[in-house]
Amino acid sequence: MKCLRCNNTEFSTKKIRFTPELKSETLEVLLPAYVCNECGETLMDSKQMNALRKAAADEYKSNHGLLTSQEIVALRENLGMSQAEFARYLKVGEASIKRWETYYIQDEGQDEHIRLKSDEASAESNALDIHWKNSPEDIYSGNRKFNYEVFKNVVLSLVKHCKSPLFINKALFYVDFLHFRNHGKSLTGSRYITLEYGPCPDQFQSIFRYLESQEILKRTGKYDFAAKVKADNSVFDDQELETLNTVIDLAKKDGGRKLYDLSHKEIAFEKTPFACTISYKHSKDLKLK
Ligand SMILES: [Zn+2]
Repeated sequence: MKCLRCNNTEFSTKKIRFTPELKSETLEVLLPAYVCNECGETLMDSKQMNALRKAAADEYKSNHGLLTSQEIVALRENLGMSQAEFARYLKVGEASIKRWETYYIQDEGQDEHIRLKSDEASAESNALDIHWKNSPEDIYSGNRKFNYEVFKNVVLSLVKHCKSPLFINKALFYVDFLHFRNHGKSLTGSRYITLEYGPCPDQFQSIFRYLESQEILKRTGKYDFAAKVKADNSVFDDQELETLNTVIDLAKKDGGRKLYDLSHKEIAFEKTPFACTISYKHSKDLKLK
């Protein structure tokens, strides 16, 4: 190798700050390159050039919330797939995978496609979103569309007193059924299923995993959770707040144990076959006054 400026043949490798331009954005990346010992001219071999292209693309991707090359490699390896297998799985050409894993910037649609097909948390939140959007307002949702913001804030208020979903789920059941009995509408729009451990919101396991992945809740034990953010009571109207506080007053005495026991004796629970959706029509027979 010869210096293009002074013909010297001795070089040192130094870390250099480069400012490449990509999609009309100037990026900053630090990378090793050769520096002429004589005149200080910077020189790169093809390997270093490729590293620069890749680092610039990754800087751009991370600035724009897109998966970086390493993140795409990690998602693929997590599935145990080769580039060819991953290409077939995503229904794209193998060349696309090779480029996305190096210097090529995937667009937002491609990025979402990769996430939905290979990242469990993305797929799960997408599935929940579709599930909620497709759930009709009927007697099984308490005449209300599921409202994630309201549900989240009810959980945040309850988790202070009932630590595990075992108890939170029963308190939720009472929040919704009590509100339906008194006002003709549920509070969160949740559908409740009769499970072994009493009435539980449909998809509650996915929802709790989702709340955890969104850093709303944190796990504090095998079954226990705690809030990671403060509950926002401004999402409730006054009647809703009153219902919520009625249930909280009952739950805070014993962490929700009495509500848990009582929920198993409710007609709503006893009259609904196992693993079926409970009708809010049973709210008129609630044992909770
Ligand atoms: Zn030189």
